[in-house]
Amino acid sequence: MHIAVASGKGGTGKTLISTCLTHLWSNQGHPVTYVDADVEAPNGHLFLKPMVRMETRFKVRVPALEKPRCAGHGKCQEICAFSAILSAKGSVIVFNELCHSCGACILACPEQMLVEREREIGTISLGKAGSADFLSGRLDIGEARATPLIEAVVRRTNDSDRIVIIDAPPGTSCSAMAAVRNADLLLLVTEPTPFGMHDLELAVGMGRTLGINLAAVINRADLGDDRVGAYLRRESIPMLAEIPFDRIVAQAYAEACSPIDRSESFSKALTTLGDRVLATMGEAS
Ligand code: SF4
Repeated sequence: MHIAVASGKGGTGKTLISTCLTHLWSNQGHPVTYVDADVEAPNGHLFLKPMVRMETRFKVRVPALEKPRCAGHGKCQEICAFSAILSAKGSVIVFNELCHSCGACILACPEQMLVEREREIGTISLGKAGSADFLSGRLDIGEARATPLIEAVVRRTNDSDRIVIIDAPPGTSCSAMAAVRNADLLLLVTEPTPFGMHDLELAVGMGRTLGINLAAVINRADLGDDRVGAYLRRESIPMLAEIPFDRIVAQAYAEACSPIDRSESFSKALTTLGDRVLATMGEAS
């Protein structure tokens, strides 16, 4: 069961909800895997404090010229849909950050002068956070393409007996879509503000385009008006819980601690959310 926790914008409480659901469900005895797919800024480890048991470098394949000079047909440049390779004066220049590792240029070269070389772009960490499995990707600084790493991290979670919580990147870009694409439920964390409303609509559009079941949770629910609630009702998206603003929660978050044991109102709302998510997933299966 894969639950992607996402939001149209950053700062709505996506990691707070993901990590607290991990705590809640693993304390209730469920087999849980937490996946930090926000590989450009992973921070779930700050709250779950996992014991990391293994770290592997993640590599993509990029083309390289096997010989010092090429015949200059320019077929590689012609076929590349991403403008990632330039054929010039008997040589080629590969713009690694733009390359999508499709291999088309290698096949297109009539002289077979291009080969694939591995290139490291990030790290995948595996470990344990209490009884929960912990999995996280971290993109190297300066790398432009997060999607291969996100796909690799999410691919490692195909155990159908576990509850897999995917902490997705914010927004609705390729990165967010790569993280949520195969989820059974897209749990949207939103807030009752004009920005929250605007970005929620984008996130709903992403979920519907991908054909994923949608549900929402409103964080800091008592600080705004009912526009987000009305929108969710209009769109028939189940609103599973409203989490009230609580200074104690903000303080716990700033200290990288779980607010479950510190705030009764948060703990109650989170338990309601956890129960309703599981009920929703039970109904869907
Ligand atoms: S592997 Fe694909 S994306 Fe990369 S340079 Fe070759 S054609 Fe372009």
